[in-house]
Amino acid sequence: MAASFNTIVDETARVAVSLEGAREALQANRRHLENGNAQQSAVAQLGRRALDRAPLPDLLHEAVRLVQEVLNVPLTSIFELSTDGTSVRLTYGAGWSTDAMGSTVVHIPSSPMGVALHGLQPVVIDDLTAPGPDLQLRPVWVDRGARSGAWVPISTMRQQTFGVLAVHATEIGRFSQDDVHFLEGVANVLGSAIERTRNEEQLAYQAVHDPLTNLPNRVLFVDRLTSALGRLKRHRGALAVLFLDIDRFKLVNDGVGHVRANEVLIEVATRLRMALRAGDTLARFGGDEFVVLCEDVIDEADALLLADRLTEFTRGPIMVGGTEHLVTLSTGVAFTSSHTTLVEDLLRDADAAMYQAKESGRAQVSLFAESLRAKALHRVDTETSLRHALAAGDLSVHYQPVVDVATGMITGFEALARWKHPSRGLVHPIEFIPVAEESGLIVPLGEFVLGESTRQLRRWQEEFPQYSCLDMAVNLSARQLIQNDLTAVVANILDASDLDPCHLVLEITESVLMRDTKTSVTALRDLAALGVRVGIDDFGTGYSSLAYLKKFSADVLKIDKTFIDGLGTDPQDAAIVAATITLAGILGMHTIAEGVEHQHQLDELQQMGCDSYQGYLFARPGPADEIHDLLSRTTTTHSGVRSTLEQLGR
Ligand code: C2E
Ligand code: CA
Ligand code: CA
Repeated sequence: MAASFNTIVDETARVAVSLEGAREALQANRRHLENGNAQQSAVAQLGRRALDRAPLPDLLHEAVRLVQEVLNVPLTSIFELSTDGTSVRLTYGAGWSTDAMGSTVVHIPSSPMGVALHGLQPVVIDDLTAPGPDLQLRPVWVDRGARSGAWVPISTMRQQTFGVLAVHATEIGRFSQDDVHFLEGVANVLGSAIERTRNEEQLAYQAVHDPLTNLPNRVLFVDRLTSALGRLKRHRGALAVLFLDIDRFKLVNDGVGHVRANEVLIEVATRLRMALRAGDTLARFGGDEFVVLCEDVIDEADALLLADRLTEFTRGPIMVGGTEHLVTLSTGVAFTSSHTTLVEDLLRDADAAMYQAKESGRAQVSLFAESLRAKALHRVDTETSLRHALAAGDLSVHYQPVVDVATGMITGFEALARWKHPSRGLVHPIEFIPVAEESGLIVPLGEFVLGESTRQLRRWQEEFPQYSCLDMAVNLSARQLIQNDLTAVVANILDASDLDPCHLVLEITESVLMRDTKTSVTALRDLAALGVRVGIDDFGTGYSSLAYLKKFSADVLKIDKTFIDGLGTDPQDAAIVAATITLAGILGMHTIAEGVEHQHQLDELQQMGCDSYQGYLFARPGPADEIHDLLSRTTTTHSGVRSTLEQLGR
């Protein structure tokens, strides 16, 4: 009985023990289940955040925090792999001191992480103090009180390694297989979020970069330029935009083919990059066109130095496909220190300057000046108003007397165009003749002056019989000279004004005649056949070829004011004037000195045997009624003219 009692007691104790064990097992199971649930829901929570496109840094932060909480461990970390793949750096962590973050770097070949990363599989170490191949690195953990640890690689679906998720505990053998599965779940979520972010970054990069050279494209360049101009608003400074275009790149393309030509482009890009500083932006706008933004320039000279530097760096031959290519660049520079400058204006200016560089012979650097833009605008404005002026009759003609050197008698006039501008007042030809020539308005303008002045001369000839021999000199521009019907136009005008052709002198500048000698010779011959005389204007400022003078068989030679200015002061000028007068005399040409302002000049001209002169010494150009007064008060003698001028207050 006792035995059976004992047996019962034993049995009871055994049952109790096994019940206790069962309870413990149950509790362990429940804990296990609870842990499992907590782990599952942690992974799910992280997954949801990833789906919601939480920013990657946020997600990585949350991951370490969640893992620490769920596993209840003192140290959780994410180590990111360096770009060269030799080390990892602590970038996110829980349980770490703040100064450890970012500064803790582990060289992976001798760490458990190396194994995890290399094999792309988890590594668990139950006792960090036990001997093992990676002892060297263990102090990193052991010094922080860790005895066991688990490392799980974080990689993308395309097996690109990002880093390691690591946990550490103070107990030996703390991490179970389930814990490792949990860590793998977290790492998976992170891996796909990283992949998505990288893809997006890749797309964003491609949208603003040139695929061939990897340089920023136009979109990114414009963006940077916009920001740079914005910075000018806050800080004083300046910036330069440089347009660089490879000279005759088409020849390279045709010569070696597309693929090799692309290699040349890549090499040019590399060399340009080397010539620049870190803050500069080098972009490729497509083709063979590169653009530089430099915010580190002081003035225009500084920007030009940069352009020279870029030229210098690209100078050497480029070897592609066994052939040497010598590349030169045409560079246009635009500079500004004003934040109100528009992006598109700067780009346009640099582009325009680049074309200017090409035009002036390639392999050049050309600077776009602000003044050029103002000039261009002024030019457009002038052209529009000049067109209106022609139609509205705001143009008139002033006359400057031409005087006989020996007798002091007026022998004729030069007709000079004037523009009565409603707001600018009387505008001088210097300002509008070049615009008229460029726009073609010189043709109607020239016809107006021709018609007006010949009619006027005819009236004076009739009114003052003693002046019936007066001549009228009218300026003819290059544009008019190449007109096919020039002779017919002149003939019609002479006809309408009833003026004898021999009283008309058409003045053509020396440089115009020399530019296209063949056309000029023909045009002059036709005009001569009409009975009109021809004068060579501004003689001495162009080629000054006396040999050519014969070819044109001109009647009149006008010696430019610049030589007359030198009379009495510059013996060389005097020698040139004297020689010109002598040679013109031999060729049977009538000489007129222009711009005579002083008596001593006139005296010298008289000694040299010059035929006529015009200049402020005698009279400035004036409107028809002033000239009318002059003629009506003038007797036919030299002294008479003088006294009348004195009366007029000149
Ligand atoms: P140009 O044919 O050489 O005309 C002479 C210029 O010298 C005139 O200037 C005249 O006013 C100025 N001048 C005359 N004497 C003196 C002097 O003693 N001292 C100084 N400093 N200047 C003197 P303007 O009238 O301003 O004309 C300038 C230029 O415009 C002319 O030079 C001519 O090339 C052009 N031009 C004027 N009218 C016409 C026109 O109807 N047709 C064309 N195609 N060109 C014209
Ligand atoms: Ca003239
Ligand atoms: Ca002249």
